[in-house]
Amino acid sequence: MHDTSPPAPSDRDDEYTLWIVKYGTRTAMRHELFLNYGLYGEPDGSASMDYFFWIARNRLRTIVIDTGFSTEAGDIRGRTMLIHPREALAALGVDPRTAETVILTHAHYDHVGNNALFPTSALVIAQREIDFWTGPLASKRQFAAFVDQTDIAGLIDAQQHGRLHAFRGSTSPAPGIEVLELGGHTPGMSVVSVQTNDGPALLASDTLHLYEQYEREMPFSGVTDLAAMYEAYSTIRTMLNGGITHLVSGHDPSTLSRFRASNRLPVWPARSAQPLRTTAAPHADAARAHRSTPQGSDGQL
Ligand SMILES: [Zn+2]
Repeated sequence: MHDTSPPAPSDRDDEYTLWIVKYGTRTAMRHELFLNYGLYGEPDGSASMDYFFWIARNRLRTIVIDTGFSTEAGDIRGRTMLIHPREALAALGVDPRTAETVILTHAHYDHVGNNALFPTSALVIAQREIDFWTGPLASKRQFAAFVDQTDIAGLIDAQQHGRLHAFRGSTSPAPGIEVLELGGHTPGMSVVSVQTNDGPALLASDTLHLYEQYEREMPFSGVTDLAAMYEAYSTIRTMLNGGITHLVSGHDPSTLSRFRASNRLPVWPARSAQPLRTTAAPHADAARAHRSTPQGSDGQL
């Protein structure tokens, strides 16, 4: 048996306990998730996607990374919300009205919904992402399907009130946290590296919906720049070789099982039969989990 309690909160300003919060789920077919799935000559089948947001916290700071989908945006798309992010934040003792910083990895509906819950927070997002979703291509059907106009309006409102911290390339909104724009899935798609009290972690968000995308280089169906998506996999590989020890996917259902579950939290009442699980900072098993799977293997998925 291993210790299932989360590491003690760090005293250091640049080191965090990282929480992975699963708040939703869906079932899809593999051909819906992988771009041009027929190219692989593999049978179709059902696959799940889970929906997460993340919280990096130490004694001095609480950084929220992404804000989940809203009830309305999830319902329209047939997604199952297991717990409203507002309730999940409350259960974790995070008051969104006083959260200093919210990092938004990209502007899709399942990552920037509920941003109205954070009326005073600095919202950190790539400038390229804002430019695109307020520009002429955003209304094209293939792009517009992935965003909710209420959410975009919230970003514009934050911009008008000086709370939108748009960056180009990379930024460090807090000690021990780096946000790096990689593009591919969306024009300003960004990943977040977090120094945790169990080693450096990379929140890949939707540069890597599923570990299989990365391990087998099978791009996701939703893409704005395919070359950049492939390049993002290479960049992530380089980051892992350079010392990142924990890789956290954007939507892979195996994510929680790769990290240590917390026994300090109640099993929250979820809106489906499936109990919600929340994991604390990664532990040693996670370091094994992200090792590259040989081509052709079905890995752990
Ligand atoms: Zn997503």
